[in-house]
Amino acid sequence: MSDLKVFQCPNCKQFINNLSSVCKYCSVELDQTMISGLVEGQERVDVAYNSASKLRILAGGMWGLFFLSFVPFIGYVVGWIFYVVVILIPVMLVVWYIRFGNIRTLDPEFKTARKYLFSAFFIWLIYPALLLTITLIFVALALISAKYK
Ligand SMILES: [Zn+2]
Repeated sequence: MSDLKVFQCPNCKQFINNLSSVCKYCSVELDQTMISGLVEGQERVDVAYNSASKLRILAGGMWGLFFLSFVPFIGYVVGWIFYVVVILIPVMLVVWYIRFGNIRTLDPEFKTARKYLFSAFFIWLIYPALLLTITLIFVALALISAKYK
């Protein structure tokens, strides 16, 4: 192994690196196969964290696009980008779950990744919930006005 990789000791859960085959915290011995497995697992957690954090930023950006879509001239184009992002976010959430949902780790980074994912989901959810509410209000108004004609 050429470059320094950090991972969690399977015994004491402290973060150690791949340069030594003995944990410097609890002195447990680790063989190369085990180390490369742990490094790989840690890299998956890092990727999961990064994509969850990007998704949360994207969900926030979705609302930025929503408000920008009311700006004259650029609004039309921004509106289309907004709809693409609205469709993209749930797809990306599902893809994240398929790729990383099965990770079992005590790494606090992964917990944060899940938090990011949930907040991305709820930030996104406001839009379809809003649409549904508006639709229901219009349907209710239509029904009421039809009744009193
Ligand atoms: Zn250890």
